Amino acid sequence: LSALQKRNPNEQEYLQYVSVVTRSLTPLLMKDLKYVEALERLIEPERVFTFRVAWADDNGIKHINRGYRVQFSSSIGPYKGGIRFDPKMNLSIMKSLAFEQTMKNSLTALPMGGAMGGADFDPKGKSDNEVKNFCHAFIAELYKIIGPNCDIPGPDINVGTREIGYMYGMYRKLTSQTNGTLTGKRYNWGGSRVRTEATGYGLVYFLEYMLHDNNIPLEGRRITISGSGPVAQFAVEKLIERGAIPLTMSDSDGFIYARNGITLEMLKKIMYLKNVERGRLEELSQIVEYHGDKQRPWVVPCEIALPCAYHNEIRRKDALNLIQNGCIAVAEGSNISSAPNALKLFKQHNLLYAPGKAANAGGVAISGLEMSQNSIKLKMDPQDIKMGLKGIIYNIFEACRTAAQQFGDNDFDYSSGANIAAFLKLANCLFDEGII
Ligand code: NDP
Repeated sequence: LSALQKRNPNEQEYLQYVSVVTRSLTPLLMKDLKYVEALERLIEPERVFTFRVAWADDNGIKHINRGYRVQFSSSIGPYKGGIRFDPKMNLSIMKSLAFEQTMKNSLTALPMGGAMGGADFDPKGKSDNEVKNFCHAFIAELYKIIGPNCDIPGPDINVGTREIGYMYGMYRKLTSQTNGTLTGKRYNWGGSRVRTEATGYGLVYFLEYMLHDNNIPLEGRRITISGSGPVAQFAVEKLIERGAIPLTMSDSDGFIYARNGITLEMLKKIMYLKNVERGRLEELSQIVEYHGDKQRPWVVPCEIALPCAYHNEIRRKDALNLIQNGCIAVAEGSNISSAPNALKLFKQHNLLYAPGKAANAGGVAISGLEMSQNSIKLKMDPQDIKMGLKGIIYNIFEACRTAAQQFGDNDFDYSSGANIAAFLKLANCLFDEGII
């Protein structure tokens, strides 16, 4: 770790992320020192790109943004990971997310390596035409380093079907290729059924397995959810189907709180507002309690919390609120949702904790199936995809549980299990390929 610190002195988030992962790998690293060597290899990304993105707004004014692609590891398969547009983006966060994605993809047991990319572009307040201009300029650089057998980007924060569409259109124009280089496409032009729902549904499946493992029913549980993008939307839909009581959803301005639970009718309105009108939750304040001023839902009493918005969204004081209000479990829909000092509190207070790399792997798993469908140029039946999703999440849960039992040193937790199971597969690939 000190060598890593010397090489990356200003990458606080990345150093923090690596040290959290390394801590949970300790029982394995102590058992066999060859895994230390594998870890040293793994924490240095294979390739990192930054590039200029020059585009024009509706008034003809030129803007420059920075694009990123961190191709973290390809030992298991082609690089695979999202594209995120976020003005706060930097290389340190990108590398943390790319490492997390690499571990997640390893857990899916599909042939996918790990990557992450994006730009420090803020789509808020931009017209549809400006978003299109930006996406076209972004992919006009990115296309040089991606491809269906090399690197397959997909959606992430502020990048959904609309943005993937603009990128795919320009990619096709530049390359004359129609292939599976981008996932998250609409069904009509190469997408997979169940992709949009997959992360939120998969999150609830993982939560159910974890609760069941501890003899706790999901039905009737009061649950806070953050975010109002597809991950949060479809987690809420599945929770309602399972008889649980989803209480909150949020955006970066504030959150809604339905004290008797968000109903399907209310959820439909939220989906229309967010997906069609691209509006703000505040606009629903006539029909549901709304808390503005950038407040977040972790102050609401609940038994379970599902963060589905952005990284480090549960900080120490949020974790304290949750614990004091009787929360017994946290399952992460967003990537790296909980800050390290929040994780410490979860552990001290014996909360059940499902880390994002395991609990939100449903989305990338269905992206893996989208890649397969694009390769064989056939569409899978939606029912088969739904069953496939459940099976993949179950296998991930079992892998985490088994690794935790095997290496947990009587300190069982699903998070260490997830890190150990994911890392073992990656490390063993490096040994098999002779690159240690
Ligand atoms: P969206 O961009 O559609 O939604 C993100 C949500 O988080 C929005 O409600 C957004 O509000 C809110 N948000 C973003 N930044 C902040 C902030 N700084 N403070 C408060 N709220 C914020 O993304 P998705 O639903 O697709 O993804 C949600 C999370 O799940 C992300 O962290 C993503 O990395 C992760 N994830 C997504 C997968 C997928 O399949 N889409 C797969 C695996 C993980 P606002 O609109 O105001 O910005």
